[in-house]
Amino acid sequence: MVREVQVKKLVTKTKIPIARHVVNPYIGCGHGCKYCYAQFIGPFKNTSGVWGRDVFVKINAPEVFERELYKLKGSILFSSICDPYQPIEKKYQLTRTLLKIALDRFRNVHIFTKSSLILRDLDILRNANVSVTITITTDDERVRKILEPNAAPIDERIETVRKLRESNVDVSVFVGPILPMNPANLASLLSKYVGRISFDKLNYPWYVENIYRKNGWTEWLRDEKFHEVVNVFKKFLDVD
Ligand code: SF4
Repeated sequence: MVREVQVKKLVTKTKIPIARHVVNPYIGCGHGCKYCYAQFIGPFKNTSGVWGRDVFVKINAPEVFERELYKLKGSILFSSICDPYQPIEKKYQLTRTLLKIALDRFRNVHIFTKSSLILRDLDILRNANVSVTITITTDDERVRKILEPNAAPIDERIETVRKLRESNVDVSVFVGPILPMNPANLASLLSKYVGRISFDKLNYPWYVENIYRKNGWTEWLRDEKFHEVVNVFKKFLDVD
């Protein structure tokens, strides 16, 4: 279900270190990642929606953004509790409209996404003060299909990194949360296209514990796995 909603406020403050402000054009995320904390925090939890299926489109977001701009300075992030390039963006182009406004106004614009749809907007991203982070959490398509059912396949994300880089867009990769993977394989694949990489562990393991158990992945719930993976990546890449 997709529902258009009117909002009174769009931009919020964020504690994420890379930006001061954050914009979430949508409530909900069609990528439907099983581990996603955004289904339990923020406005989605107050809806009767099903995570990954239902999305609320902030249809008046551009007008609200224009109204809020006068009091905003510094850097801005798209997005924290939805993917700004989730499938519904293809139809609504809200992220594109908001980005055009933001790129004129902010010194630094950051984008976090798992989607190749970002390539649609290369015309506005090329030569702009923007940094893009593509999230790639595993090299294993089976793991991706189970834990990130509607997000882009891994090879499509790597290709997106390659194309952004080729277009001179500042791009890095975020391996977060670290999912079951072959770290040497993923690090080797990524090292062809990125110099910088950052990581996060699975912060809310209890959301997916049953899935991990069913698939024989429980060793990946151990904290030590995080350090093991990072140490393997360090052999191939600079690690933040
Ligand atoms: S893409 Fe990001 S926001 Fe969307 S469901 Fe996955 S983790 Fe959550």
